[in-house]
Amino acid sequence: MQTDTRKLDSTYIAHTYLRFPVEIVSGQGATVQDASGKTYIDLGSGIAVNSFGVNDPVWKAAVLAQLDKVQHASNLYYTQPQAELAQVLCEKTGMKKVFFGNSGAEANECAIKAARKYASDKYGEGVRPNIVTLINSFHGRTITTLSATGQDVFHHSFGPFTPGFLHVPAGSIPAMQAAIRRNDVCAVMMEMVQGEGGVLPLDPEFVRATAKLCEENDVLLIVDEVQTGNGRTGTMYAYEQFAIAPDVVSTAKGIGGGLPIGVCLLGEKTQDVLGPSAHGSTFGGNPVCAAGALSIVKRIDEALLSDVRRKSARLVSGLQAIRGVRSVTGLGLMLGVQTEKNAKEIVLGCIEKGVLMLTAKDKIRLLPALNITDGELEQALKIIKEVIEA
Ligand SMILES: *Cc1c(COP(=O)(O)O)cnc(C)c1O
Repeated sequence: MQTDTRKLDSTYIAHTYLRFPVEIVSGQGATVQDASGKTYIDLGSGIAVNSFGVNDPVWKAAVLAQLDKVQHASNLYYTQPQAELAQVLCEKTGMKKVFFGNSGAEANECAIKAARKYASDKYGEGVRPNIVTLINSFHGRTITTLSATGQDVFHHSFGPFTPGFLHVPAGSIPAMQAAIRRNDVCAVMMEMVQGEGGVLPLDPEFVRATAKLCEENDVLLIVDEVQTGNGRTGTMYAYEQFAIAPDVVSTAKGIGGGLPIGVCLLGEKTQDVLGPSAHGSTFGGNPVCAAGALSIVKRIDEALLSDVRRKSARLVSGLQAIRGVRSVTGLGLMLGVQTEKNAKEIVLGCIEKGVLMLTAKDKIRLLPALNITDGELEQALKIIKEVIEA
């Protein structure tokens, strides 16, 4: 069974992924089983997607109830789960309107279109087309979001790329100031914690200075919360911890609890810029995905968030106590661990012993389900320690 899947995969699926040697078939919460029946504690949750782990009864009930009604209706008609999800998101964030897509990259595409349209309507077409993003950022894999991504490794082979992106070093207020003062910039887009870039939180002073510069110059602040959002960092959205009020917020990954959905939240300034036919998506806001997402978002309350922060503190102190750990960075249950040993080797060693985790750059990356149990957490820490200290 296992070898069959791997053989089929290697024969018929484009080799875009360096997969770990595990075929996941089932699970419960933060524990998953592979095809041979071996169990693992999963500290990756499908890259921060399975917010409440695998086979979660509440999410599953919401999804199945909607499947019993209608699985898709197109955006030419109204559907209740989509409308309710939009309401809950706006009420929780103070944002004004929502556009639904199917992925993080699409949420960012919408944010980029909204920003350019806002500036185009107000200052004239082509006057302020540029968007500032940060070096070492990650915003997606479409041609435009690759342009936005501030890592040179992504800027080869697929050109011409979408023009209109300026990359400045994360943390440099003078560089941000210089970019914004060009007067041809409609928005700044950034992640509060650079996830793929190595789980690096931004300097709060830099974030607040950027927000102030944006406000003073009528430049929109877009926060990419695709990975950091939906309780992952210990608040509903990570920007709350930086005391800023973004104009646009994009999110995806964890909001769907496992089904694809991308969300672009539009604030006061951008709520009305995208009118009929200015943007759209066939699948966006699919009622089954939206019903599942609604059940996820409703459960992200203060009790859950404080539990995320408590588990985060335990995980950080447990990791810092391991010999060979150089640093632990991140926020909430989004952590990066720099080790003396090679990260890939550690991940493979942990797979042997029944723990799944990810890497980001040369670090180990941990993104466990928000409802991982204390027992699972302690067991995983014990195994990580054994592997790192071996
Ligand atoms: C994963 C990610 C994306 C891309 O999301 P997809 O759903 O893969 O398109 C964009 N931005 C950030 C910060 C991400 O972590």
